Amino acid sequence: MPLRAILNQKDVFSYEFDEDSWNQLKASYKQETLMMPCCDNKAIPKISKLNNYFFAHARRSGCTSAPETFEHIFLKTLIAKIARSLGWDVTTEKIGETPEGERWIADVFCIKGKAKIAFEIQWSPQTETEFKRRQEKYIASGVRTAWLYKLRRNQDYLPAVYEIPAFGIQIKSDSGKMSVPQFDLPIDEFVRGMLEGKLKWRPKQNEELIGKLITDYNQCWRCKRRTRVILGIGIYDKEGINLSYLYFHGDEISVPKFILQHLNNSELAKNSIAPIKPRYSNTMQEAYLSNGCFHCDAIQGQWFLRYAWVDAVYAESKKTIMDFSFINGHKNLRVEGKWYFGKEPSRSFR
Ligand SMILES: [Zn+2]
Ligand SMILES: [Zn+2]
Repeated sequence: MPLRAILNQKDVFSYEFDEDSWNQLKASYKQETLMMPCCDNKAIPKISKLNNYFFAHARRSGCTSAPETFEHIFLKTLIAKIARSLGWDVTTEKIGETPEGERWIADVFCIKGKAKIAFEIQWSPQTETEFKRRQEKYIASGVRTAWLYKLRRNQDYLPAVYEIPAFGIQIKSDSGKMSVPQFDLPIDEFVRGMLEGKLKWRPKQNEELIGKLITDYNQCWRCKRRTRVILGIGIYDKEGINLSYLYFHGDEISVPKFILQHLNNSELAKNSIAPIKPRYSNTMQEAYLSNGCFHCDAIQGQWFLRYAWVDAVYAESKKTIMDFSFINGHKNLRVEGKWYFGKEPSRSFR
């Protein structure tokens, strides 16, 4: 059920009407040609259960467009109004084509300058294959897409990849209000933020990122003096958003080796940090790349570096030193991307 109709050969949009002008249209449309955009049938102005204006078919004969729920009309109206208020050019039920001539119909299509966004409201379950098939048409057409996907109990699939920007919509059972649980936001704030460019996939493959050393002081077991040790690395993007951090002796990649690929031991020495090098550990009965004491070079073994300590130091102070840049996905370190709304990473909500 579209928000768009054709009145005397020009597009009219239901969300642009107020009560007076809508009543005026209702009183006068029979004398004019008010047509559906999807077929050659006449259109009738109507009001939905959720109090949104829309156009209905006078007759459905020959029309292949799918019927829509009132939530669908509600969301289309909401998105169109917000987009217009932010200066986007808006067309609902926009029909477009890929360069190969494959057709798509976007629920709400927004253009501002070079940016094009198609909003797709997906109220019925959709498989991964179908998401991909439909998304590929938009990619081929140079259009960014945002899928607003109704969340169901026991739902097994919501895309979480850069190529398919999909966001779950939950309807609160008490109030009927719609929200986006990934960011714990009401739907209108989410849509507004998305159109303002707040939604970003961070980090991308091959993006230049910043690593910073997380350090603290430890009493050397041999000489009993205080010495600075490296606990791990914090990882940031160029806008300063903290994406993740890694333990010096974690099990994902060799962080000591990674640090040495980007900083050298004489640079570490300027910050009173002993070289990262293989030292023999009696506990482990082997040598490994380790922290040492800046004063006596005794190994500061991995057993000192409890994960909880690293977590606590990082959470409390976020104090980091010695920035270096690296390319995401190179030299074994790949930070998996996710959606961020402003500085907030999307969270799991199931
Ligand atoms: Zn139709
Ligand atoms: Zn020492």
